[in-house]
Amino acid sequence: MKSRNRKQSKYKNLACPNCKSSNIIKKGYRKTKYRGKIQKYFCKECNKFFTLDEGFFRMRYSAQTITLSIDMYLSNLSSRKMRNQLKRHFHLKVSHITILDWVRKYSLKVHNFVEKLGYNLGDSFYADETMIRREKEDDRFWACVDWNTRMITGVHYSISGNIDEAKIFIKKAVSKGKPKFIQTDSAQFYPRAFKKLFYSNKIGGLVVEHKIQNYQKTKIHNYKIETVFMKIKDRVHDFRGLKALWSAPIILMGLVIQHNFIEEHTTTNKVPCSLAGQDLDLGDNRWLGLIKLSA
Ligand SMILES: [Zn+2]
Repeated sequence: MKSRNRKQSKYKNLACPNCKSSNIIKKGYRKTKYRGKIQKYFCKECNKFFTLDEGFFRMRYSAQTITLSIDMYLSNLSSRKMRNQLKRHFHLKVSHITILDWVRKYSLKVHNFVEKLGYNLGDSFYADETMIRREKEDDRFWACVDWNTRMITGVHYSISGNIDEAKIFIKKAVSKGKPKFIQTDSAQFYPRAFKKLFYSNKIGGLVVEHKIQNYQKTKIHNYKIETVFMKIKDRVHDFRGLKALWSAPIILMGLVIQHNFIEEHTTTNKVPCSLAGQDLDLGDNRWLGLIKLSA
């Protein structure tokens, strides 16, 4: 029912791109080489045809091919292996660079959309960093997870670890919700970053409590988000697309989207965004649903 309502209202809200009139009707199809039949619309005011941009305008390949490739790449398959699969199963000749381009283009597009939504998050956040090998450099990927929903609340990509980078990261981590505490490892830049960001004279302490998990002392890892992190680390370490500094943060955005909006978490059996109150009604092909919403 929900999706039907959305479709109807979308058609009603449709405006002619030429004259902005809503006096339009569906009229015929445009045949495309790679994307199949596409609905054409006719504007009764200015007598012009137009088609709807659902995020795939002027793309040579079908929305299904593109979203399958993005999903597979971000879940476990290299762009070269994905290229080979498309050739073997669909007789499609796509270069592995094109697949990476799709991942980057749509990760960015969907990222801009989902960052504007509101989320119901819990009050316990867990943060961690991991080193990422990019050419001969060790970059840092920072991520913060809300325990209630397992949603990644914020990430940061930097070429070094210090107070300034920690501050930028924590600011991003609390942009979608305000936790009672954030637990980090015992890296020395965290306490000063927390003080700078959350110290309040009124309460004589931190507005957001800082908990430290000291592995050296306790021999206990930051186990609560270990599963989330292991998944991302595993995937990141065999990425070849992380070669360039401009590309790495965008591909990581894609990984975060894959975690927050596409895959069910293994212990909650829910996609994190649904637990955070944003079910989004994405259908079976969740990347396709997200891209349409972002168009
Ligand atoms: Zn018109």
